[in-house]
Amino acid sequence: MNVDSLLAELADEIRVCPKCRLAQTRTNAVPGAGQTSATLMFVGEGPGEQEDLSGEPFVGKSGQLLSRELEKIGISRGEIFITNIVKCRPPQNRTPLTDEIAACNDWLSAQIALIDPKFIVPVGGPSLQTLISKNLRITKARSNVFRKDGILFIPILHPSAALRAPETMKLFLEDLANLKDFLSREIADDEITDMDEGKSKGVCPPSQDAPEEGGNLSLF
Ligand code: SF4
Repeated sequence: MNVDSLLAELADEIRVCPKCRLAQTRTNAVPGAGQTSATLMFVGEGPGEQEDLSGEPFVGKSGQLLSRELEKIGISRGEIFITNIVKCRPPQNRTPLTDEIAACNDWLSAQIALIDPKFIVPVGGPSLQTLISKNLRITKARSNVFRKDGILFIPILHPSAALRAPETMKLFLEDLANLKDFLSREIADDEITDMDEGKSKGVCPPSQDAPEEGGNLSLF
């Protein structure tokens, strides 16, 4: 079976997944969409209202902003794969809880293993903390490059945060400009924080308030 078929099979399983409480309140699970052989994968926090209604990722206001700004830096939605750390909408768009993220992690891990991207862009704090380290904060880690399990991660602010404040919008656009730069050239080793070897450039000191099991993760 090829990658396309395996991802489609996985998506079918996700659509009927009962593994956490979010299954009880969703309209549709949102497995993810895009190029199954993508070298670039975006991973957001979770589906919002429009995504829940349509079953498609990043189609609401913040998704439209992301798509528009990606087009401006020469990246089309058709050439990337885009998904979230939880596949079902948390009620009232609250941040996913740690146990929900843990329950959904097998789906995300399977998608990453099948797509085998060169780069992953964690979009927002919860994605950053799930994919790289719960000790990181997006305000410090954004626009930096991390290596973990052989994949390069380039975190950016979440577009929903950008829509809420002009200052954050400026930083979000800066993240996309930096992403374009990183993708257009060879990234030097000394620009990469290697999480596999425990090396750090000191950009992301461990926080004192890392979330506990069942706790909540901050958007920032
Ligand atoms: S959020 Fe993930 S683990 Fe929870 S029900 Fe949906 S697909 Fe399953």
